[in-house]
Amino acid sequence: MNHTKIPDSLKLAKFFALEILEQYNITKPPVDITKILNDLGLNLEEMEFPESVDNISGMLDIENKTIFINKNDADTRKAFTVAHELWHYVMHQQELAQNDSYAIVYRKENKNRDIIERQADQFAAHLLAPKFLLDNFVADFSAPQLAKLFWVSPQMMEFRLTNEYQ
Ligand SMILES: [Zn+2]
Repeated sequence: MNHTKIPDSLKLAKFFALEILEQYNITKPPVDITKILNDLGLNLEEMEFPESVDNISGMLDIENKTIFINKNDADTRKAFTVAHELWHYVMHQQELAQNDSYAIVYRKENKNRDIIERQADQFAAHLLAPKFLLDNFVADFSAPQLAKLFWVSPQMMEFRLTNEYQ
């Protein structure tokens, strides 16, 4: 048994992911993240990030209600990035709007992510591959098949399966 306590802030991210899925009546994969964005009035733009900023997959421009994603990323990574940035938008728009220095939030590969980044990743994982949907398929499909079905990367699906079923 794993008795590791999940920090409440990560539970919160999971909770909000499930709330959104329920709100949008999403009952089968893949989760249509574009529909959610449109409904929130958020724009999505693909762009080429400068080479000087390494490993950035996306960013959120709160003021212009726009999520930018790296056009060179794989589609599955793009979807994850959008979900990640969506967390920043949903949860932090108030604080962000009040503090110019946080008006743009970058997503960057970093082993030492702070808790907000971990929340955003947790939110994205549970939004794109929620357990209640995985439950319907996990017995009959392999991890790579599930990844295709849920439109997430194989790595992320492995992570989700380990997280929920092992
Ligand atoms: Zn982030």
